[in-house]
Amino acid sequence: MHELSMADAMVKTVLDVAEKNDATEVLDVTIEIGKLTMLNPEQLKFLLDVLVENTLLEGAEINIVEVPVEINCNVCEYSGAADMDDSDHYLAIVECPECGERNVEITAGRECNVKNIKIEKEEGDEDA
Ligand SMILES: [Zn+2]
Repeated sequence: MHELSMADAMVKTVLDVAEKNDATEVLDVTIEIGKLTMLNPEQLKFLLDVLVENTLLEGAEINIVEVPVEINCNVCEYSGAADMDDSDHYLAIVECPECGERNVEITAGRECNVKNIKIEKEEGDEDA
């Protein structure tokens, strides 16, 4: 259950940030998931919805953004979006779309971050 441990870690990250900022409520969370993480966004969303119950995050809008795979090819110097074969759900094969080589440097697609957190704070208790 790859998704469960990731979802759990994300919820903890967000709650940690929310608590440090004296949030009374979390309104909005954006999570970036690179294609290469092989996480299933729908499954992740489902797990997050379950994990946030009875926390500050309950009721928050959770946005999951998928990040496509990008490469720098070491063979033909192509740089940009990559071809990816993920028919095998455990090992993605990344290829250069120009020359078909797998000798590439992956520059995007491994993200698994909490990107943005919008919180509600208690009013009237802030330093100017
Ligand atoms: Zn190439």
